[in-house]
Amino acid sequence: MERATECGCFATYGSLPLAVSSHIAKDLHVFPLTHEQTIRAAATCTGVGLHSGAPVSLRILPAPAGTGIVFHRTDLDGFQIEASGRNVARVSYATSLMKKGVLISTTEHLLSAFTGVGIDNAIVELDNLELPILDGSARPFVEMIQKAGIRRQRKERTYLRIVRDIELREGDKFIAVYPADAYSVSYSINFPHPLIGKQSFCVRLTNGSYLKEIAPARTFGFLHEADAMRQQGLIRGASMENAIVLNRDEVLNPPLRFPDEFVRHKVLDLIGDLALIGKQILGSVVADRAGHAMHTALVSRILRDPSYWEETALEDEPAGPALASAASLSV
Ligand SMILES: [Zn+2]
Repeated sequence: MERATECGCFATYGSLPLAVSSHIAKDLHVFPLTHEQTIRAAATCTGVGLHSGAPVSLRILPAPAGTGIVFHRTDLDGFQIEASGRNVARVSYATSLMKKGVLISTTEHLLSAFTGVGIDNAIVELDNLELPILDGSARPFVEMIQKAGIRRQRKERTYLRIVRDIELREGDKFIAVYPADAYSVSYSINFPHPLIGKQSFCVRLTNGSYLKEIAPARTFGFLHEADAMRQQGLIRGASMENAIVLNRDEVLNPPLRFPDEFVRHKVLDLIGDLALIGKQILGSVVADRAGHAMHTALVSRILRDPSYWEETALEDEPAGPALASAASLSV
């Protein structure tokens, strides 16, 4: 089966070979991070957890090269949980990490922001069990990080270059990653709702395109599911200010930030979940009606079997101006 996405990433799955559009390699000149990066100064925000409704303060601090992203529960003597696929706990409507019984929930939007701005190393302190939902997107995190600044570190940044196809299927859900010279994410959804229906979106992880096209996309939920979800201990912090809320035929808190904001948010979530690999991949990710469970299953598969990838540094970037602007890379 062949998938053609709106920005021209072509990927095939099933028994057919992969074909990726030939200009992908140009992207490396737009966002070629050859060295690890951290935040330049501490950045703080407060909010409530989407599912727990619990108030939480969050602080992002610089960390030495090689640290990765490490969460600290300041309410539990600074207990540390690394943002790694090996710490993934239960995953349903959000991605949670757990270590020795200590939970940190809804990590995906902050981790997505870190990938989008190119932060490799940071300490994230929080004083409760769930990250703040803020406006339901990754944009407030991106803005916090940009305001604090980004510092390039001495350590060379390495990538996991995908060398073999990985495809996971569960019913009509599908997720895959194929070898490619740059990191791209292509997502398709199909919700039986007049305002959503079939949507697909593809983004290459160039700096400008993530910030403009993915980071602002908010999470969404359906009013008719809200009571049942609350009874399961979910969305207790949800409001019109932190999620797109739909009833059966309309958005209750318009306007949307994009007509296809829903699928863009799924791309945001997937990028955040894939950050649990610990290194950025060089590969083309294709997802169809997947969710956090399939996203993290892909992370586990990649971490479990090193025959799917090789660790590599980027070659030195050639001199001269960027070969492609962010605007020309995506539709
Ligand atoms: Zn989300």
